[in-house]
Amino acid sequence: MPPEPPPAALRLTIDRDALATNWRALDGLSGTAAAGAAVKADAYGLGVAATVPTLWQAGCRDFFVAHWCEAAPVAARVPPASVAVLHGPLTPRDAHYARDLGVRPVINSLSQAQRWIEAGGGLCDLMVDTGINRLGLPMAALGDPLIAHLQIDVLLSHLASADEDSPLNAVQLARWQEARRHIAHRRASLANSAGIALGPDYHGDLTRPGIALYGGVPCAALEGKLAQVAMPEAALIQVRGLAPGDSVGYNATFTASRAMRVGVVSLGYADGYLRCWSGKGAMRGHGHDLPVLGRVSMDMTVIDLSTAPDLGEGDWVEVVYDLPRSAQLTGLSQYELLTGLGRRFAR
Ligand SMILES: *Cc1c(COP(=O)(O)O)cnc(C)c1O
Repeated sequence: MPPEPPPAALRLTIDRDALATNWRALDGLSGTAAAGAAVKADAYGLGVAATVPTLWQAGCRDFFVAHWCEAAPVAARVPPASVAVLHGPLTPRDAHYARDLGVRPVINSLSQAQRWIEAGGGLCDLMVDTGINRLGLPMAALGDPLIAHLQIDVLLSHLASADEDSPLNAVQLARWQEARRHIAHRRASLANSAGIALGPDYHGDLTRPGIALYGGVPCAALEGKLAQVAMPEAALIQVRGLAPGDSVGYNATFTASRAMRVGVVSLGYADGYLRCWSGKGAMRGHGHDLPVLGRVSMDMTVIDLSTAPDLGEGDWVEVVYDLPRSAQLTGLSQYELLTGLGRRFAR
């Protein structure tokens, strides 16, 4: 047995109460519809283990992943029948896997419908493309006899511009309603997080929030209604003094104009703290704001400890990671800020 490695000097703390509160808020805002949860990409980078059981306990009964490899970790924590796989069966093996695991494939095309039926079929979801022109059955194929052979639980569509006041929203709503009239199904679903804020017409029977569960604020109507869930923290691995004129990091983009105390934090772009944070980000420790100095490197970031004489090697600092503000500051989307958080974080 190799020795157990010491704990990482990098951790992502998940506030499970905030996650449950966010789900309940979104379920409430979904009116008569139930809120499900998009948990693809390992629950937007937060980790299925830390999120899915909490969502289930809060009352969530529908979970959406994208890839087939993402289904089993979710299905190990909730009943497999409550898991749907958005990419659908691309191969016969995918279709057989869905049946063996007991999860629902989302059928996105006539060829996927054929493949599912040939594998033996069973309860599935159907994604109809109403205008995003990404994945989904074209409206023109709604009347195909193959579709009539499917046993459909959730009839889904996905909005392209739910986070904007766009005429496309009403166009997609009308097409989704048309699909609901033409195709037998148990439940209908259209809204992602921002779609929930578009009002009751968009709710159907089931909503599918993702980013808002994890503290993202995709539109103004949801401002102030969601709490931060993911808190990255990193340890100070070295503290040093700078003399006036000393520079920091690659390409010496920061130069000290006075003597200062700085700290090296074990967080870098390999962890998803990308170079766009250079000279812009901040951390917090013992109540002090600690600005990022110079370039972020692969495994390290340097911060100003001038105002925090009480912080030293081995102490932990919190990375300021409020999603809407961080997105504004860096130009990254709130989705990228979460899903980019790397594998070195202890979750
Ligand atoms: C990712 C995804 C969602 C969740 O979207 P958010 O904007 O994160 O709320 C909902 N539905 C589908 C089909 C998705 O791919």
